[in-house]
This record gives sequence, structure tokens and C-alpha cells, in this order.
Amino acid sequence: MDYLVRIRLSKPHTIAHYVHELDGVVGALCSQQPKPAVGDHTQGGEWELVSALPEGVRICLVCQKRKEKIDNPLPARMEKELERLALWDPRAAARQREKMLAHYRKKEMLR
Ligand SMILES: [Zn+2]
Repeated sequence: MDYLVRIRLSKPHTIAHYVHELDGVVGALCSQQPKPAVGDHTQGGEWELVSALPEGVRICLVCQKRKEKIDNPLPARMEKELERLALWDPRAAARQREKMLAHYRKKEMLR
């Protein structure tokens, strides 16, 4: 997992972002463009990609929410339906779950 961190005078800013890639640009997961992107300069420093989150640095809240949604995008009612189905046919429920996960992930990524 990589993180987008803004570094100024070799010190990281306290808020970092998860990243995603769009048209070859790697940048903040919370932004559609994505913006900020790796290599962007601002007065506050330069955005860099790091593989470990520096001490004292947190992930921005919007990125956290997006990541949760991507990791488990199924709506609660869908989880309930799958639980019910699993009582009768666990294998069919597992298959259905994979299908739904793929569907909702795609939807989530396109937002
Ligand atoms: Zn973010």
C-alpha cells in the first residue's frame, strides 16, 4: 500500500492520502482528477509516494471512507440477503457475493 505524503524540508505534513491511478496519473484517492498527484509542488512542499506511513501522519478522512467503500462496497441490505441465502445454499451465496462485490467495486471506482 502506497501513501501520498506532502514533504517540506524533509518533514512530512500530518495528513496523507491513499492513492489511485487515472490515465497514468497517481494521486489522492479522495479526488476524482486525481489531485494532488505524485510530483505536484505547492508552497507547502512536494507530494511524494511513500510505502510506509511516516510516524505521526494520518490518512485523510475522505480517503478512509473511500477505501472502506472499495474494500467492502456491499450495501447492508445486500449483506442480509446473502446471509439468508447462505442458510439454504452457502456455495451459491459465496458465488453471488463475489459477483456483487465485483459489481459494486466497479461502480465505486467509477464515481
Ligand atoms: Zn484524501
